Amino acid sequence: MANPFTLGVASGEPLPDGVMLWTRLAVDPLSTDPKRPGGMAPRAVEVSWQLAEDERFTQGLRQGTIQALPVWGHSVHVRVAGLRAGTDYFYRFRASGGQSPVGRTRTAPDPASSRPVRFAVANCQRYEHGYYTAYRHLADERPDVVFHVGDYIYESRQAAGVVRALGPLPGETSRLHEYRQRYARYKTDPDLQAAHAAAPWVPTWDDHEVLDNYRGKGDGSAAFLRRRGAAYQAYYENQPVRVRPEDGNLQMYRRRTYGTVADFMVLDVRQHRDVTTMLGPTQEQWLLSRLVISPVKWRVLMQPLFFARRVVPGDNPGVRRDSWDGHPAERARILALNVPGLVVFSGDVHNAWAGELKSDFADPGSATVGVEFVGSSISSRPPETDGPAVLARNPHLKFFDPRRGYLSCTASAEELRVAFRAVDFVDRRGAPLLTVGELVTKGSGLTLENTSSK
Ligand code: FE
Ligand code: CA
Repeated sequence: MANPFTLGVASGEPLPDGVMLWTRLAVDPLSTDPKRPGGMAPRAVEVSWQLAEDERFTQGLRQGTIQALPVWGHSVHVRVAGLRAGTDYFYRFRASGGQSPVGRTRTAPDPASSRPVRFAVANCQRYEHGYYTAYRHLADERPDVVFHVGDYIYESRQAAGVVRALGPLPGETSRLHEYRQRYARYKTDPDLQAAHAAAPWVPTWDDHEVLDNYRGKGDGSAAFLRRRGAAYQAYYENQPVRVRPEDGNLQMYRRRTYGTVADFMVLDVRQHRDVTTMLGPTQEQWLLSRLVISPVKWRVLMQPLFFARRVVPGDNPGVRRDSWDGHPAERARILALNVPGLVVFSGDVHNAWAGELKSDFADPGSATVGVEFVGSSISSRPPETDGPAVLARNPHLKFFDPRRGYLSCTASAEELRVAFRAVDFVDRRGAPLLTVGELVTKGSGLTLENTSSK
């Protein structure tokens, strides 16, 4: 059989004592045969895995075998437990005579640790829009953990202005085999594979993993629920997440705690949503109670959608209903808690922003109750945006940059530092890494350092 490790390896969901290891077998990743996703025959394949403390697999070796099943798209999710906290590990797989690349992962620190955490935030990677050079640079940083805040794939197909073609894939994904093909196309990218192999990931989804701007159960039709179920299953099959979908649902909101420094509350702004609620009552209760009792310095919301108020001059106010501006009461309930160390990360808008969260966005003199950092996109094109005009109209917003990139962050007991990394072009490979802004918070308000605007 041909090498089945064409989609790379990944790890995720770091806990102080364990991680998930992931791979998905695909001998022919671009196959469009609905009966053979990834070109794999419809039978189980035995996969062996190894994990060790060193890259040559000589120290503290652990190993086992697991079946890659056709019903899960020949993906494997290995839960490794009993590991040491705050420690690097290396892992690899073997199957059908082939061997995977080696991945590096890292457990979360001990709950009592006050060691700084280095993390990256990425989002929005439309394949046709360009190369994932930003991921190559992110991989070189080897952060402790990578958060992905959505639009990992796009369900539609770009017709014009394509930098690189999807190939023989269907126009829009709606069935399981089509979502599987779309993930396989994206995952053949070597820079994306490098980013997964460099650090454990904790992903959440936005809309394009299913359908542009969908909410909850969509139109409530059986057809939409089938489509959503297929998309959620393909998401699970292609991410190193701990939980499997059940009955068409996939539990996504969760927290990942890094010692006494940071509690990352990863939100799901899609599955439980309807016209009146962004999170749904159960997730909102979970979030509000955790925010209050969380015993850490930084209480971090990791989620896709622009959180602060953003008035765009000349814009129809209805346009932004897909952001938190469409759910101001729910946002106000979070901000009214006035918990110390509140930080929100978001994406979705394809430009980079940062700002302060106000107790009353209409009153620039009101208390600052948190900060927000918005990642632009790995490759997805931005809308035409007059950044300076929006900054002038929204005094709580402090930073704008229109380039592709990701966020490189360090949280410590004293401060949270966020570097806006960027590349000048994605229509060809090889763009050098730039830092276009570096912002620091010590708990109230934002300070800009080393800003170089274009
Ligand atoms: Fe996007
Ligand atoms: Ca989006």
